[in-house]
Amino acid sequence: MQFRDLHRQYEAMRVEMDEALLGAARSGAYILGSQVAELEQQLADYVGVKHCITCANGTDALRMALMALGIGPGDAVFVPDFTFFATAEAVAMVGAKPIFVDVDENTFNIDDVDLCNKIRDNQNEELALRAVIAVDLFGRPADYDRLQKVCEMYGLLLVEDGAQGFGGSINGRKACSFGDISTTSFFPAKPLGCYGDGGALFTDNDEWAALLRSLRVHGKGTDKYDNVRLGLNSRLDTLQAAVLQVKMKHFDEELKAVNHVAKRYTELLSGKVTTPVVPQGYTSSWAQYTIQADNRDEIQSRLKAAGIPSMVYYPRTMSQQTAFAELEQTPCLVAERLAHTVLSLPMHPYLTDEEIEKVASLI
Ligand SMILES: *Cc1c(COP(=O)(O)O)cnc(C)c1O
Repeated sequence: MQFRDLHRQYEAMRVEMDEALLGAARSGAYILGSQVAELEQQLADYVGVKHCITCANGTDALRMALMALGIGPGDAVFVPDFTFFATAEAVAMVGAKPIFVDVDENTFNIDDVDLCNKIRDNQNEELALRAVIAVDLFGRPADYDRLQKVCEMYGLLLVEDGAQGFGGSINGRKACSFGDISTTSFFPAKPLGCYGDGGALFTDNDEWAALLRSLRVHGKGTDKYDNVRLGLNSRLDTLQAAVLQVKMKHFDEELKAVNHVAKRYTELLSGKVTTPVVPQGYTSSWAQYTIQADNRDEIQSRLKAAGIPSMVYYPRTMSQQTAFAELEQTPCLVAERLAHTVLSLPMHPYLTDEEIEKVASLI
């Protein structure tokens, strides 16, 4: 059994995919180009925002979002303590300080109450409090209703890290539309993945969109040899756009399928371990199906012995990472507990009912 079976996905779309890949090879345009522009329009329409700007990966997307918002040395950005490293790394890479915020034990997403506490704790003269990065962890959108209110109250910008969240929604409104700027990743194992690295940013703001289009090509002005600011080399390949266009045709079907898998897992596992919660009105894109159990390690070895892969996302919180050792922050107790109890099970649209039952019976 595969943790995320990309081979089955390829087989399901093989004819279209082969054609799309060859088409990109024959086009002779390999970076950006009209196919990438076409994909950007499709993605913007899907999410329901004005602009989509693709780039090389989800980490660059975060970094470019912070650069476009003018965040750098002397600034602080609030980040959930329980996330993939890139969320906090992007903040530190632009020279700002990440301040870690605890998460909600049911949704794994940034806790607005602890966010308010951390904002008050850090209202001193030394750092300018600039933004919050909320993460749609494991596919479930963060609580944007509350987060938007907190950000408004304290004059903070809101960035949505939708690397795992693309395809999720709150009351019909799609993930990657909730931030002042939102980002996603097309890493192969994400809900919408390409055949290599890829990423995108979403915004309704014309000025930021223009800035992001400049930042991804070395801070270009009127053309790429007119450089008006420092930027990155962070563009999407035509080949990846071709892959994503094929996958977009199947994406809603795949979302239905992962929601079916999640429902089956929950039916079979509830009462035995803590199963993931999707709040009323929310839909998850199920980047991960993550249970909580005190005997997590024992369950994982049992699965392993039966040839079933499972993953610990994440074994360490951001404050516990060596790279952030000198930041000295107040511990985030929920995040630390989750690092010891979470276990992500095989999850993808092509998992069969028999496979789901096998995993569940072993647990
Ligand atoms: C994967 C991921 C990223 C980074 O995306 P890449 O495309 O791998 O650079 C950022 N944030 C979160 C929450 C992620 O899961």
